[in-house]
Amino acid sequence: AAMRKQDVRRTKTVCTYCGVGCSFEMWTRGRDILKVEPSEGPANGVSTCVKGKFGWDFVNHEDRLTTPLIRENGRFREASWDEALGLVARRFAEIRDAHGPDALGFIASSKCTNEEAYLMQKFARGVIGTNNIDNCSRYCQNPATTGLFRTVSYGGDSGGIASIEQADLVLIVGSNTAESHPVLATRVKRAHKLRGQQLVVADLRKHEMAERADVFIRPRPGTDLVWLSALIRYILDQGLEDKAFLAERVNGLDELRTSLAPFTLEYAESVSGIPANTLRDLAERVAGSSGVCVLWAMGVTQHCGGSDTSTAISNLLLITGNYGRPGTGAYPLRGHNNVQGASDFGAITAFLPGYSPVSDETARARFGQGWGVTLPEKPGLDNHEMVDAVHAGELKSMYVIGEDMALVDSNALYVQSAFEKLDFFVVQDIFLSRTAQFADVVLPAAPSVEKEGTFSNTERRIQRLYEVMPPLGDSRPDWRILTGLAERLGRPWGYTHPSEIMAEAASLTPLFAGVDYSRLEGFASLQWPVTADGTDTPILFTERFPFPDGRARLHPVEWIEPAELPDLSYDLHLNNGRLLEQFHEGNMTNRSRGIHSKVPDTFVELSPELAQRRGVRDGSRVRLTSRRGSIEARVLVTDRVQGDELYMPMNSVEEPINVLTGSHTDRVTHTPAYKELSVSLEVIEAD
Ligand code: SF4
Repeated sequence: AAMRKQDVRRTKTVCTYCGVGCSFEMWTRGRDILKVEPSEGPANGVSTCVKGKFGWDFVNHEDRLTTPLIRENGRFREASWDEALGLVARRFAEIRDAHGPDALGFIASSKCTNEEAYLMQKFARGVIGTNNIDNCSRYCQNPATTGLFRTVSYGGDSGGIASIEQADLVLIVGSNTAESHPVLATRVKRAHKLRGQQLVVADLRKHEMAERADVFIRPRPGTDLVWLSALIRYILDQGLEDKAFLAERVNGLDELRTSLAPFTLEYAESVSGIPANTLRDLAERVAGSSGVCVLWAMGVTQHCGGSDTSTAISNLLLITGNYGRPGTGAYPLRGHNNVQGASDFGAITAFLPGYSPVSDETARARFGQGWGVTLPEKPGLDNHEMVDAVHAGELKSMYVIGEDMALVDSNALYVQSAFEKLDFFVVQDIFLSRTAQFADVVLPAAPSVEKEGTFSNTERRIQRLYEVMPPLGDSRPDWRILTGLAERLGRPWGYTHPSEIMAEAASLTPLFAGVDYSRLEGFASLQWPVTADGTDTPILFTERFPFPDGRARLHPVEWIEPAELPDLSYDLHLNNGRLLEQFHEGNMTNRSRGIHSKVPDTFVELSPELAQRRGVRDGSRVRLTSRRGSIEARVLVTDRVQGDELYMPMNSVEEPINVLTGSHTDRVTHTPAYKELSVSLEVIEAD
C-alpha cells in the first residue's frame, strides 16, 4: 500500500555509534525506520557514514530483550519488573550490609545518555556508598585524558571538527580515522584536497589516511613516545619553539628540557626505525606550521606507556604554541557516541561529575548536600581492578550496564572466569550479550531511539536526542530502571523526565552550569564548559589554562619498552582495531542485516612477504595463539600491513580477539595494552 504521508514521523536523534556525534532526523512509520536524513547537524552537516545511515535494524531485532530475566537452577526465566527490581535491591542491600559498600562494583555505559551516566554514579556513590564506578573510557581514551589533565587540565578535544578543518597541518597518530570516525575524516580529506592542509600520519598500518598523507611514517610498535620526544628536543635545540607562547602561558620548560636528554634523532631512529632525516624534516614542518592539530586514538593509548605518549603529544603542542586558537590543539578521538559524556558526568572512579576529584572535600560536600547523603572519599576500583578484586574474593557483586566486558575487556577468559565467581551479578542491556549470559538478573534496556536524553561527542558537544519510538515490549530506558532501583533502596529520586536529571547535574557542576534542555532544542547544541548564562566554549584555552595560575604545564615523560615483544615462541605482533562497517564487538552492527552481509566473517591481515613465507593466501585458515588463548581466522593478504605485523578487526563474537590479549596495562590508568600482543601463527587450511 502507498505510504500515507501523515503516518510518517520525523524525529531528531543523534547517532548511537561513534564519537563524531552526527545528528539527523529519523523518518519512521510505527517501528519501521524508513530513512535517516541529515540536514543541519552541528558536527556533521548533511553527512553520515554507513553505520549512521543503515545501522539501525538492531532496534527491531528478534534478539532484543523485552522482559527481565532471573536465573533459576542455571537457566533464565522471565520475571516482572517488580520481582526483578525487588530481587536486585534486596541482594545489593544484603551484600552491602554483610561486606561493606566497596564489595559492589558498577560499570556505566558509554552508549547510554549523560543523564544515565550521572544516575549510575549517583546510584553507586549516593545509594550504595562506593566510588567503585567506571566506564569503558578505561579501555580506550583514559590515557589521553590523563595526558591532557597533566598538561592543560581539561580532558577533551581542544576545539571542534571545524577547528581541525582550519589547521595548517594535521598530524594523525595511531588512529584509523577514515574507518573509525568516518565523517570527521571526510572533513580532513576535504581540507587536505581543497585547502592544501598538510597531512602527516604515523601508524603501523597503511590505512586510507596513510595513503593520502603527505608524510607517512611507520614507527615500530609502541615507540611513538620516542619519536615524538625527539621532535620536541630537536625543535628546542634548534630554537624553533614558540618562545612568546612559552613565556606567557606555559610552566616547566627547564624540567622538560632536562628530561629530553636521551631523545636525540639518532636514538629515535634506532628505537622507532624512522630515519633521523625524516624526523628532522617532520620537526621542521611542525614548527613551521601556523596551526597544528594532533588527532590520536587507540594506537597511542592502548599501550603500557599510553598516558605518557599522550602527554608527549600535548608537550609538542605546547612548545610550538598550538593551543587556544582555531586550527590548533589536541584531539583524542572518542570511540563511542557518549564515552566523553560518561566520564564528564562522573561515571569514573576518582571524579565526581565535571571532574571534581572525590578527594576534594568541598566538591564532596556540594554533591552530598544536593543528594542528601555523605559521599565516600576514597577513589574506587576501576574496571580492571574490579576484575582482579573479584578473583581475590573482595568484590562480591557487579552491576554492568551496556558493556560487553566478557568480549571487549582484554584477557577475556580471565574476565569471564571472574564473572562466574560473583555472588550476584546484574547486567542491563538490549541483548543477551556474552556478559549477560553470566548474570543472575538481566534487565532489558532501551536503545537511544527509544528514549530522551543527551550525548556528548568528541568535541565536548552536548546534543539532545528525542524518543523516536516507544521502548520495545517491556524494556525500559536505563534512567527509569535506575530510578526504580534507587526507590526500592530507600532513595526516591522521583525523576519523571531526563531534563530534570540534567537540571540537577547542571546545578551541582560548574562545568555544565548553563546546560539546560531549553538551550538544546532540536539541533541546538552546547560545547562545555557552559557558563550559567548559556555561553559555551567551542575552543578551549583561548585566554588561560584552567589551572590556578592560568598556565599550562609541560610534563616530562620517560619511555618504557612494550610489555610483550615478539620472541621465539610468539614471533608475530598482532594489532587490532575497527572496520568501517562494524562497531566494536558487533553486538548492534551484526544485527543490522545490510551491514552484517557486507563483512560476515572475521579475518586477519598478513603482509605479502609473510604470506609467502608461511605458504598461505587469501582465504586460508590459520590459528593464532598467544600466551592466553587461541582463535581461528581467515587470511587476507594485503600490503596495508608490513613484515611480521598482523592486523585483525575486533568485531568477531565467535572468535574474539580478546581471548588473545593480556592483562598488562597503561601504568597510570590501567587501560589494557591491547596493542602489545605477540602471537604465533599456525596454518590450518592453506587453500
Ligand atoms: Fe555515526 Fe560516527 Fe558514522 Fe557519524 S561518523 S554516522 S556518528 S558512526
